[in-house]
Amino acid sequence: MAGEAKFREATTEKPLSRDDLIRFIRSVISNEQQEEADPFYVLDLGATRSLLNTWFHHLPMVQPFYAVKCNPNPAFLKELAALRTGFDCSSIAEIETILSLGVSPDRIVFANTCKPESHIKYAAKVGVNLTTFDSNCELEKIRKWHPESALLIRIKVPETTFEFGSKFGALPEEIVPLLRAAQEAKLQVVGVSFHVGNRAINSHAFEDAIEVAKTTFETAAQLGLPKMHILNIGGGFTSGPKFTETASAMKVAFQKHFPNEVLGNDGLRIMAEPGRFFASSSFTLAASIIGKRIRGEAKEYWINDGVWGSLSFLRHDQDEVNCTPLGIKKPICLEMKTWSSTVYGPTCDSNDIVLKGFELPELDVNDWLVFHDMGAYTSSRGNDFNGFKTSAIPTYFISKME
Ligand code: PLP
Repeated sequence: MAGEAKFREATTEKPLSRDDLIRFIRSVISNEQQEEADPFYVLDLGATRSLLNTWFHHLPMVQPFYAVKCNPNPAFLKELAALRTGFDCSSIAEIETILSLGVSPDRIVFANTCKPESHIKYAAKVGVNLTTFDSNCELEKIRKWHPESALLIRIKVPETTFEFGSKFGALPEEIVPLLRAAQEAKLQVVGVSFHVGNRAINSHAFEDAIEVAKTTFETAAQLGLPKMHILNIGGGFTSGPKFTETASAMKVAFQKHFPNEVLGNDGLRIMAEPGRFFASSSFTLAASIIGKRIRGEAKEYWINDGVWGSLSFLRHDQDEVNCTPLGIKKPICLEMKTWSSTVYGPTCDSNDIVLKGFELPELDVNDWLVFHDMGAYTSSRGNDFNGFKTSAIPTYFISKME
């Protein structure tokens, strides 16, 4: 969990503009008299609400179950719960968190294909009755500990940017044996789930996956299973302009492969597990400069968050960092000369490098770097290496017009 949530009344139902965001961050820095200049997040709840509007505008037939793993910030989850999304949980702890917000268990999908037995027992106890599987072993555990649970068979589909590799999803040749095994165990497989990979930049990924899912629906019907009625299209959505394109391609695929169902004649429920879509642009990170070294033309800085903290995605992905410098003593303007700069994180790991060859005006200790779109797999994946505590980074959330 990210650190303590601090409420500050501020702006708007819409996403904050960059200027407003920077103004707000300045106000936090000066109001809080952050003598030690610790890093902090800003959660723009207006952005979150507007993302949900965008989702329903483009995909009104798809119920979003937010993937808690992406960012379990309490204020953020509370907002999504109030907006009545569902939740994708992977463990007892995530389910407990969501239930503690007053969310009913039928708004949770336990979307972890390999669950410890104790977690399955817990799901049975609290009434979380929808889960995924992709192996015989998982079926056996569910038969033993939660036979009432409805099941989604997770299938392997062609992926895009981020490969889930061989870990998740039944292979085509495994689908029939798994469905038969479920039938024999008297378990109810009510649908299909997949995940096309994080940041699915190729909208065809979803179209292809929906086609493979349709084939699985047909296979189940041929085996004499009760009619499947849930299609879970997983996560992988980005919230930028690509979303409109992906949503349009997806609607075409729904019409093509599930025409009767999409028209509402056959009671198909379509759900998704978006994480990054809601979290990424809802959060901004401010980190301050704690050290500086000039080596001729080269400027080097140290900041108080890094690749063992909020920016851990830099260790795994090719993701770009979107960052704005914030001068405290002297204001920064567009006309200033910039230098190719390196920015290091605070730990003793020599690979703790956040930016390399990044153009920045000359900055000083106690100036700030503001990192945009910092909600997805940031605070949730950072650790406390070297005593720099990602878990203690506070979040200021903005919730209404001043
Ligand atoms: N669902 C499952 C099963 C996942 O493993 C993930 C992420 O790894 C998600 C949903 C969320 O994915 P994203 O943040 O790309 O939307």
